[in-house]
Amino acid sequence: MQYFRGIQEVKAESILTYDPVHAPLKVSRREIFRYLGIRDGKPDPQTSSLVDSVVGELEKVIRPREFHQAYPLNVTGDERHTVDLGCFQTHSRSLEKNLRGCSEVIVFAATIGSGVDMLLRRYGLTEPSRGVVMQAASAAFIESWCDQINDRLKAALKEGLYLRPRFSPGYGDFPLEDQRDIFRALQVEKRVGIVLTESLLMLPSKSVTAVIGAGKEDLSCVREGCEVCRKADCLYRRNRL
Ligand code: SF4
Repeated sequence: MQYFRGIQEVKAESILTYDPVHAPLKVSRREIFRYLGIRDGKPDPQTSSLVDSVVGELEKVIRPREFHQAYPLNVTGDERHTVDLGCFQTHSRSLEKNLRGCSEVIVFAATIGSGVDMLLRRYGLTEPSRGVVMQAASAAFIESWCDQINDRLKAALKEGLYLRPRFSPGYGDFPLEDQRDIFRALQVEKRVGIVLTESLLMLPSKSVTAVIGAGKEDLSCVREGCEVCRKADCLYRRNRL
């Protein structure tokens, strides 16, 4: 079995399988309410029961899949903010910041499957209010799947290595066009079943590609990412350019 040098326990190339019986995806109702714009987390009873019903329906159709690969990382620190991710090079000040101090990077692609899109299309036409709630709930499901992947990668890390929050093309000045390189490097279409359109949309729509840096510096990053982290002055914060 081949392992990547620094990330000893994380296989250099691997698929994490979803286990709905022993590790089902848990979605936070609060997160769904937040996507729906209910800031105080207190929906009316009708909305609350609609959310429960939609979550139950989604649980039956989600098919989480993923593929990840670890690469050596080189953050050059040059004036073009070149970041060499092992499988491709990019230029991004915000990604450079996020990955500074890391020696490896895990590149991954994940989806919760096309069954969700079929429901989104159906309810968009026949029951728009349910469709809106389904958009919010399915966004929470893909986030939850990415969080589970994150947790499993973290658990497999060699002692003394720490993960940074995941960082996707389109965040800050990380070019969205780099999706093409990620798809090529990981053979995402073949391995995960996600298609990248000419306009850089992913199908199924509830899919994510991202990179996760690994390094010796323990920033105690929160799993939910920089957006909810209290370290407002963190140098590596991903939403700062
Ligand atoms: S802001 Fe928080 S989550 Fe983001 S890199 Fe810094 S410590 Fe990690």
